[in-house]
Amino acid sequence: MSSEEKWPIGVFASVDAGLGVQWDVIRQLQVPTIQLHAPAPQSRNRETADRLRKQLEEMNVTLTAVFGGFEGESYADIPTVERTIGLVPEDTRQQRLEEMKQIADFASLLDCPVVALHLGFVPHELDDPRMSGIVEVTRQLCDHCKNLGQALHLETGQETAEGLLQFLGAVERDNLHVNFDPANMILYGTGEPIPALRQLGPHVRSVHCKDGTWSDQPGKTWGQEVPLGEGDVDIKAYLKTLDEIGYTGPLTIEREIPQEPERQIAEIGAAVKLLRELKAAL
Ligand code: MG
Repeated sequence: MSSEEKWPIGVFASVDAGLGVQWDVIRQLQVPTIQLHAPAPQSRNRETADRLRKQLEEMNVTLTAVFGGFEGESYADIPTVERTIGLVPEDTRQQRLEEMKQIADFASLLDCPVVALHLGFVPHELDDPRMSGIVEVTRQLCDHCKNLGQALHLETGQETAEGLLQFLGAVERDNLHVNFDPANMILYGTGEPIPALRQLGPHVRSVHCKDGTWSDQPGKTWGQEVPLGEGDVDIKAYLKTLDEIGYTGPLTIEREIPQEPERQIAEIGAAVKLLRELKAAL
């Protein structure tokens, strides 16, 4: 891929367990970029990194971000997400910080300049007593990434655009940015994605192309994730808005149905086609 190309299409991929498409599917989809779900702890070593790097080179695919995830996380329902995801739960925070640092080290072995994660449910008020600990752990992770020449991207969804802006301001680190996921705003019921994208504008440094429908009880129960173009994210308006805010980075497709790999590949294939058409028409 030429790094000059605007909006290179990508997919979210996994090498072992994870939400992304399996490794051999990358070739099949013929996309120029991927984001990678960090492999299991025992695979985060130089040997695996060398192998993956070689394979990516052969496929002419650029790795644009490594996403961290942890044992014990569950997206079963919104209260479970609040309890189990990311660096927010206090009893696992220190251990997960260490693990995220290892993931950043692994990303560095892959020459990947971006590490990303779902930080978890950040409290909505800055004076919440839990806030200082969450700000502090995020700073520590940012500083570790900074030493490796990396940025840290926070996946959107669990908080409103305003809440996220407030949090970014509180952390005060210039390598902390946003991975914008329009469907998550809808699935979690935290706001209309297009205005949120405008609001977060300059902080958005990577994006997911994912679609979803609103829940009848937004914020209480999940909306539903659906194939790109079939949900409540207006994908055409999404791309137009990305253009307006000056975003030129990859468009990484996510379709979180790893339990149905064939359907996943077919629907991601259709999403690649849709994005190519919309890109050409803009
Ligand atoms: Mg996402």
